[in-house]
Amino acid sequence: MKLTPEPATLQLRTTFRIAHGASDQRHNVLAHLDEGVGEGAAVPYHGETQAGLLADLARAAASLETADPLRIDDCLAGLPPLTPAARAAVDIALHDVWGQRLGQPLYRLFGLNPAAAPETSFTIAIDEPEAMAARARDSGWPILKIKVGTEADEARLRAIRAATPARLRVDANAGWTREQAAHLIPRLAEFGLELVEQPLPREDREGLRWLKAQNLGLPIFADESVKTARDVAALAGAVDGVVIKLMKTGGLREALRAIHTARALGLQVMLSCMVESSVGVTAAAHLAPLCDLVDLDGPLLIANDPYAGVRYEGARLILPDRPGLGVLRR
Ligand code: MG
Repeated sequence: MKLTPEPATLQLRTTFRIAHGASDQRHNVLAHLDEGVGEGAAVPYHGETQAGLLADLARAAASLETADPLRIDDCLAGLPPLTPAARAAVDIALHDVWGQRLGQPLYRLFGLNPAAAPETSFTIAIDEPEAMAARARDSGWPILKIKVGTEADEARLRAIRAATPARLRVDANAGWTREQAAHLIPRLAEFGLELVEQPLPREDREGLRWLKAQNLGLPIFADESVKTARDVAALAGAVDGVVIKLMKTGGLREALRAIHTARALGLQVMLSCMVESSVGVTAAAHLAPLCDLVDLDGPLLIANDPYAGVRYEGARLILPDRPGLGVLRR
């Protein structure tokens, strides 16, 4: 197989501000592998860059030259050490080739019912409370993920709750201390939220366990604290659910393991994405029927999606039924 990397710089429709910082562009890469394609999202707070991902993919190319794409685990085992996003790009492209050569969409090869995919949330980035409330209302979306993790989070939620009857989830992106979280979570619960995501810094797993033990009135999900199946196991009993993303697991293969590990440990699973085009998000969407909650709005946040793939009917995900990922170059 021939692996050809391509830079893909994504323009965000509106400035995307979360507790980690703000951005107007994201510097992703595409991995073309024969007839297949994958995507890697350079996540600034993982220390990944577009140049680094392109270099990683160039290093990966040699190991794939004579590999059999229908032996995906062998192909992945033969890769040099890669960042999770570069590994995800290769893994996704391999699955696309697999599906295309077998002539079936990925969800069918996984034995899944595409109609069982939960509806996706839509993300409201951090802004002034009234601006967030207006965006929440104008989106018309029935499920919203509200980014918080700074001062004035209570005012933000109050304004948003007054503006929309949507189901609300909040994501602090590691922005609170233990004390802030213990103070804020019961107050935010008053606004009828469904869950709170990553209230504490990534490394503070004991803090998550401490928060959960206090029964503060909202389910707590870990995102930044969990990348792989091994991390899921380490969080058993410390949280109510985990957020799985292909850019953390390094692709579909490890995402499947992480989802099943979470299930075995009684944890709920939210399937989510970074700022990704329709390539990465469609790949994830093929696993959506396995998950309890879905947050796959990447293509809705960007203005120059290079591919068409998963579609949205309101908040419903419509998976392409073409073989493999089923994405098409625009
Ligand atoms: Mg998150």
